[in-house]
Order: sequence, then C-alpha cells, then structure tokens
Amino acid sequence: ESLINRIAAGEVIHRPASALKELVENCLDAGSTSIRVTVKDGGMKLLQIQDNGCGIRRADLPILAERFTTSKLSTFSDLSRISTYGFRGEALASISHVAHLTVVTKTKTETCAWKASYSDGKLAETHPGQTSDPKPCAGNDGTTITIEDLFYNMPTRLSALRSASEEYSRILDVLTKYAIHNPNVSFVCKKAGSAAPDLSTPSSSSTPRAIRMLYGHSISKELLHSEVSNSDDDGGSESWSAEAHFTNANYQAKRIMFLLFINHRLVESSRMKRALEGVYNGILPKGSFPFIYLSLTIDPRSVDVNVHPTKKEVYFLNEEAIVERICDALLQTLTAKNH
Ligand code: ADP
Ligand code: MG
Repeated sequence: ESLINRIAAGEVIHRPASALKELVENCLDAGSTSIRVTVKDGGMKLLQIQDNGCGIRRADLPILAERFTTSKLSTFSDLSRISTYGFRGEALASISHVAHLTVVTKTKTETCAWKASYSDGKLAETHPGQTSDPKPCAGNDGTTITIEDLFYNMPTRLSALRSASEEYSRILDVLTKYAIHNPNVSFVCKKAGSAAPDLSTPSSSSTPRAIRMLYGHSISKELLHSEVSNSDDDGGSESWSAEAHFTNANYQAKRIMFLLFINHRLVESSRMKRALEGVYNGILPKGSFPFIYLSLTIDPRSVDVNVHPTKKEVYFLNEEAIVERICDALLQTLTAKNH
C-alpha cells in the first residue's frame, strides 16, 4: 500500500520546484504577506518555506498529511469548485510519502507554536508503532514547512532530477512568477548558509514594478497594459476578466516569456500561448518574441486546472471565445501605441 501511495505521490510531486509551487500556493491561501524560502542542494536536501499566514490549528495537525485533508472546503459551496481551484488536499499528503516533512505552525490565538513531523500520510513514529504527538515550541505566527531528503525512497525519481543548480533555478523561476503575480507579498529565496538572498522582492510593489525588478529594465520600459472582461451582451456566458502586461514592438527577445495565471494559480495553456504569440505576427520581426504576463479570473466551475496531476495544462469553458477576446485587446493596444 505504501508503495502505491508513493507512486501516486510522485505523480503530484515531480521535483523540488513542483513541491515548492504547492507550498507557495498554501502560503498565499493562508493570507501571508511574507514568504521566505531556504534551499539546500537544489531543494533535494532541504526545502524550507516560512510564511506569516493564518497558521494551522493544533487540533488539525494529526490529520494534516492525510490525503484529501483540506481546510478550504468551508469557503466553497460545492466540491467542483474546490477541485478546480486546486484544493485537493493532496500536496502535503504526497510530500509526506516521498520526503521527510516537518511543520511548525502557530495561529494568532495559540500561545505557543506546535511542531509535527510526518511520514507516509501520518504523524511520524518516534518508536515503532508509536506516533509522536505535536510538540509545543517557540515560533512566530504563521507556518514553516520543512521538506528534507526529497525522493529518499524513490531512487529512480531522484536520479531523474537535474543538477542542484538546475533544480534551484526552477525554484527561483516559480518564485519569480508568483512574486510578479503577488506584488503585495514579499518573497525571499536563499541557499542555506548563504547570507545574501538570490531573490528578494519588497511587498507593496505593483506587477509592472515587480516585472521590472525581476526581469530587468529593458522589459519594463516597453510594457503595455490591457484589461478585458466579458461584456453584458455576451448573453448567458460566465463572467470573466483578464489583466495583461506585455511588451511592445521595441522589445525583441530570443524566446517567448509567457506567464499565465488562472484564478491565481500558475498554469500552462499551449493554446493560449500560441494564440497570443500569433498576435505579434507582423509586429515583431521573425525570430523575435515578446514577454506576456496574463492573469485570467474565471468562474472556477468552468476551468479544469487539474485535468491530470502530471499536467499543468488547463482547459476551460468558452476557451476559444475568451482567447479571441484577449488577443483582440492585445492587438488593439499594440497597434494603437505603434502608430
Ligand atoms: P489544499 O491546499 O488542497 O487544501 P494541501 O495538502 O496543500 O491541501 O494542504 C492541506 C491543508 O493544510 C490546507 O487545506 C491548509 O488547511 C493547511 N495548510 C497547508 N499549508 C499551510 C500554510 N502555509 N498555512 C496555513 N495552513 C496551511
Ligand atoms: Mg495546497
């Protein structure tokens, strides 16, 4: 049974960066304004993430790493909404099957923090057959999640990973994208033992300022902005809105940079990507590519963020119409500024 769980967990958690993505989303769901990440060996040895969010109640700790444990049920009225927001209660459970997981957490009302370690979906055993209860400890409001020895029990998965520096750059990439999408949250990422962070963003910034800071001045000089939503005359279709920051004709990169958030989750849609890239046909010279940040908010019931845990690719209702409207808006802004 534990082997099956482990294999299933490996489908959710592919590499340090995918574990990190889940953890960052949890921090943001918890209302954090500060997220600090510490990494050793590209996250394979250690991946630690500290937030200042709402914390986890002591009473919830024993079941925290059980599959389908999610505190996010009450906020949503029906199950389809939960699963489409990515709230499946699978992240911590999965991690506990493929790594050593430790949680230190404190809510505002608790007088001290609590520490708990997990293994295979349960509180870890101190001695065979004896699980360890959460222990009181010192700590600030918020949660610190520590993942150690990722894939220690999955040698093939471990050997499929790239070098520590490659895994680390994937971690930085995920954090950078979430920092751009959450300019009011401060993100810090550093290697264990190093004093200087490799990523440090201030809170109370704005998305364009965050883009400038993280991707450089040359991008931000050329940024355009567009907002679009479904109009009332779209009839009975679901309401949606999109906000985009994208480069103009002066910005020409060798590769497309495309950041897509749907309902505040970083996702991929090759269809959307291709369509938006197409908008630049005839605007950019051949072999040149834009930077595009797009945040789409859509009825959660109409988007399938998790078609399959191994795929980040999303599908949503009225996709064609929505993609077309967004492309139109971008094209209009692009051409208006060029004439
Ligand atoms: P999900 O996010 O789908 O609910 P997870 O496995 O990612 O499932 O997390 C399980 C639960 O653990 C969450 O629903 C939440 O209650 C709690 N949790 C996890 N991380 C944090 C955090 N950083 N701050 C507060 N609560 C958290
Ligand atoms: Mg989660």
